[in-house]
Amino acid sequence: MDVMKMPADLPDVNLNSNAELVLKKRYQRKGLDGTPIETAKEMFWRVAASIASMEKNYPSSPFKTKDLARTFYTLMTQYDFLPNSPTLMNAGTELGQLAACFVLPVGDSMDEIFDAVKHAALIHKSGGGTGFSFTRLRPKDSRVGSTGGVASGPISFLKIFNTATEQVKQGGTRRGANMGILRVDHPDILEFIRAKEREGDLNNFNLSVALTEKFMQAVENDEEYPLIAPQSQEVIETLKAREVFELLVRKAWESGDPGIIFIDRINRDNPNPDQGEIESTNPCGEQPLLPYEACNLGSINLARFVLEKDGGIEVDWDRLREVVHLSVRFLDNVIDASEYPLERITETVRKNRKIGLGVMGWADLLYQLGLPYDSRRAIVLAEQMMDFIQKESRSASKKLAMERGPFPSYETSIYKEQNLGPYRHATTTTIAPTGTLSIIAGCSSGVEPLFALCFVRQVMDGEKLTEANSFFVKALHDQGCYSEKLMAEVIEKGSVRNMEFLPEELRSVYVTSMDIDPQWHLKMQAAFQKHTDNAVSKTVNLPNSATQEDIYKIYWMAYEEGCKGVTVYRDGCKSVQVLCTGEGQ
Ligand code: ADP
Repeated sequence: MDVMKMPADLPDVNLNSNAELVLKKRYQRKGLDGTPIETAKEMFWRVAASIASMEKNYPSSPFKTKDLARTFYTLMTQYDFLPNSPTLMNAGTELGQLAACFVLPVGDSMDEIFDAVKHAALIHKSGGGTGFSFTRLRPKDSRVGSTGGVASGPISFLKIFNTATEQVKQGGTRRGANMGILRVDHPDILEFIRAKEREGDLNNFNLSVALTEKFMQAVENDEEYPLIAPQSQEVIETLKAREVFELLVRKAWESGDPGIIFIDRINRDNPNPDQGEIESTNPCGEQPLLPYEACNLGSINLARFVLEKDGGIEVDWDRLREVVHLSVRFLDNVIDASEYPLERITETVRKNRKIGLGVMGWADLLYQLGLPYDSRRAIVLAEQMMDFIQKESRSASKKLAMERGPFPSYETSIYKEQNLGPYRHATTTTIAPTGTLSIIAGCSSGVEPLFALCFVRQVMDGEKLTEANSFFVKALHDQGCYSEKLMAEVIEKGSVRNMEFLPEELRSVYVTSMDIDPQWHLKMQAAFQKHTDNAVSKTVNLPNSATQEDIYKIYWMAYEEGCKGVTVYRDGCKSVQVLCTGEGQ
């Protein structure tokens, strides 16, 4: 593919040492012998130039392609905004697949099941992650018409998807990621809830149970609820809702799996109900999609949006607005530039034009503003921040609709009815985990608190790097508390909350995920969800001592506070579980 020539006066890119490693290993294009054939600078230019070149499709564009390419280059290399990994890897290359998130249907026939396995393999090869609902599959042991035999059920097919994923490495570096969903009223639900009981089973899958509102009401009223055969819609049996809910809680306590999603709430926000129901999300849960739909994501690094004013630090709203508008244009162009492994996906994506703009560096922003993550003021700012980004992204989407036309299915979307829009995109906001993007940008990931202030990071292939949060180090210096001895202690403990010799302000602001009460984790997720079209990727971290009762409460809180799903992780639960099993034998 031809990419616009790199201007001679293009500024160089500054890379932190982790970013240098990650980019070299995974993102910079490689020759046949595996060595990079482009520098990091050339990589960012390849992405900027090929995404900007989409302007040529729109004669009414107010930008000159060359200028916009430079602007996009600056946007990324200042680490104000980064598009999702597949865009960085594949923009301007032969592969050209730029989206991170896909959902594929799994129909109840051998043909359809193995079609889905094949399509997933193609998507994994191109760097995307896939989500599936297995709810349409007939339950285990039900009759198979053509052979007179019995069906093996969703869980046995899940294993086939898992094995296929294991074998397809993405560009030789990372394995694919999957989400597997089963509705709580599927007859095989109990087996599904237990499917990851043994460590290592279904290791390429995150599992989530799709909870209906009817089910949640049955839990609340301590009633039974029906399990329904997907084909005949017959009631097969009834279960006590509370017992199922408690089993879910127990399994999450033991191993963190499965998670839960609130499927009715997700469908209430489905912008295109005429195209069918949403039945699954992408692998990390932040992007609900229709079958055969894909979505590209991008994240703004909030750590970069502060301003010194009157001796204090404030959020730089004006610059943030500018970056939101540019990012929406960038992501809109990504839709046009991207090629998909299936014609059906191309059609669905081009019809709905979903994008998912989100944030990273949230914890770093709070550090700079001196706001503890677990404080009312941080929650208020989270709502204000996402409300702002949501409104500005919609305003940018509206402007693009005027320039380029609304998304083709706008007329049949809920926006038409609500008299909103016309927009260029069926959705504009999603909060991704930003696992790799945050390493590249050198910021805290997504809307998560920091895991530790100073720690040893296992990067890839066993390589290790020591890392200290730069805002923390600066604060220590500013307050005259910095010493090598202290840093060694922080590496050991990961947290300063209980270091009483440090000033109170430092101890309350520089919190880490384990310092934070689980309820604050959840409140933060809910605050961001309030103004996010799609969903929010967040893990509610619990200490090892947390009880099942604690998880029960978190699940209810997630339901009541309007979250679209929830993932919990109890510190060290996996090894404890192994120990327990060992003792039981
Ligand atoms: P990144 O930082 O690499 O852009 P994120 O951690 O934000 O990615 O994840 C966003 C989405 O990208 C995930 O929900 C998933 O859909 C996809 N994804 C992440 N990791 C993988 C992987 N190893 N294989 C396939 N898809 C992935």
